[in-house]
Amino acid sequence: MNGGQPIFILPEGSLRNTGKDAQSRNIAAAKAVAESVRTTLGPKGMDKMLVNSIGDVTITNDGVTILEEMEVEHPAAKMIVEVAKTQESEVGDGTTTAVVIAGELLKKAETLLEQEVHPTVIVRGYRLARTKSMEILNSFATKVALEDEDLLGKIAMTAMTGKSGETARDSLSALAVQAVKLVAEQQNGSVRINKDDVKIEKKHGASMEDSELIKGLVIDKDVVHAGMPKSVKGARIALLDCALEVKETERTTEIRVNTPEQLQAFLEQESTMLKNMVKKVADSGANVVFCQKGMDDIAQHYLAKNGISAARRVKKSDMEMLAKATGAKIISNVDELSKADLGFAGLVEERKIAGDQMIFVRECKDPKAVSILVRGSTEHVVDEVKRGMDDAVLGIIAALENGKVVFGGGSSETELSRRLKTYADSVGGREQLAINAFAEALEVIPRTLAESTGRDPIDILVDLRTKHDKGGETMGVDVFKAAVADMKQMGVVEPLKTKTQAITSASEAAEMILRIDDVITSKSTGSSAPPMPGGEMGE
Ligand code: ADP
Ligand code: MG
Repeated sequence: MNGGQPIFILPEGSLRNTGKDAQSRNIAAAKAVAESVRTTLGPKGMDKMLVNSIGDVTITNDGVTILEEMEVEHPAAKMIVEVAKTQESEVGDGTTTAVVIAGELLKKAETLLEQEVHPTVIVRGYRLARTKSMEILNSFATKVALEDEDLLGKIAMTAMTGKSGETARDSLSALAVQAVKLVAEQQNGSVRINKDDVKIEKKHGASMEDSELIKGLVIDKDVVHAGMPKSVKGARIALLDCALEVKETERTTEIRVNTPEQLQAFLEQESTMLKNMVKKVADSGANVVFCQKGMDDIAQHYLAKNGISAARRVKKSDMEMLAKATGAKIISNVDELSKADLGFAGLVEERKIAGDQMIFVRECKDPKAVSILVRGSTEHVVDEVKRGMDDAVLGIIAALENGKVVFGGGSSETELSRRLKTYADSVGGREQLAINAFAEALEVIPRTLAESTGRDPIDILVDLRTKHDKGGETMGVDVFKAAVADMKQMGVVEPLKTKTQAITSASEAAEMILRIDDVITSKSTGSSAPPMPGGEMGE
């Protein structure tokens, strides 16, 4: 025995929260995070202005952007931020939805905890509800294919909702649909799309309607030499990942220059080597060169003399996209460059956009990589339009990859909630309480959308439930009219994956937080922040 002495198993200064205390602090922190983005949900959601430590301002409605900028400290709150990040990387859209659902699941769990329902029972119920949700959502989802341009356009428009790209939604969503269709590859019935094949570039200084789809690529580079053509029609493109330079090593070894004549001869020899390199390029028939590495002044001069346009130090990722867009092969040794390695574009041109030179590689035939150049009046506007475009493109991809969509405006959550309650009755026991809580939590989506209209959400919600009970599966909240309406008719469509992923990660995070009954914070984290800022998030 230890003679009544307490045993210290943790280093001095460690903080420990156990049991109900730990649980309620974690729940409070997680709820606070969810609450901070809740009002941004939907087309009538508000924006947040974020000011970082050096004073940069971001104005956004995008859940994940807000949470990333907030630099959340609390460990449980961070888990909710992770939910948003997972949603962003898995589907792109639906980040606010996921976070809001996670917060509401915890809020409902809190009520059950107060009624002495054990956390493990809640976790078990939530897990059952989550699995059942996937089954239910799949059962009422609608099919979508590459040919359904109209439906794809609506997915893009719904995804862009709330971002300031809204005024030009029609034209922007058409661009997103066309871009995805160009790079999509159909393989025995399924569609495969690599999101990196659509490059979204942004430049301010023009209206959103001036945004354009380039069947090829926009590159943030200029033509390297003033004597080179700024516009090449019928471009035959060489892609080089070697330098057009005489290597340093070749120059520094064994050079002994004793007379000016020798120096002259040496320089001439170097110049001849470069001239020969350029000759190899010209012989291949190329009239445009993109080089991933450096390009000697003399090489530039000879290229210009041959009427060849060139850019140097092009990013590796751009080189790879150029290869996909133009059909060119990236070559590592100029000696090996041949006609067969060249790619083609109808037009390669340099243009000045918002003060910067950019090279446009346009009119590629059957490009497997494309660019969208989004425009907007100011940098803040164009940033938000780009986020909208990202969501639109990712939304279309998510819908096509699993081939299914559901209707938005809170309609699918309401229907899912209704069916889950029926399921809860069949399960019975204490888990039934948790499944019911889960079902009620999902209604936070239609309720928040209803709140955003400014009208009393209760009226709208009651009407919504009644319509669903009468078989109106696609009825949701028309936020502009502050009334219940058919989301199918209104064209508010979302990829099924947005919903399944949001519900899955929200529920998993909530379950994880609920299982924690002990928070041990070691002192030696070295951070200046208080180790357990439990209550300071506010509610
Ligand atoms: P998230 O980050 O979750 O995507 P959003 O602010 O984009 O958050 O809002 C998405 C929600 O808004 C979804 O529930 C979607 O169905 C809904 N929504 C989008 N467009 C409309 C519309 N025109 N009418 C009603 N609800 C809409
Ligand atoms: Mg969205």
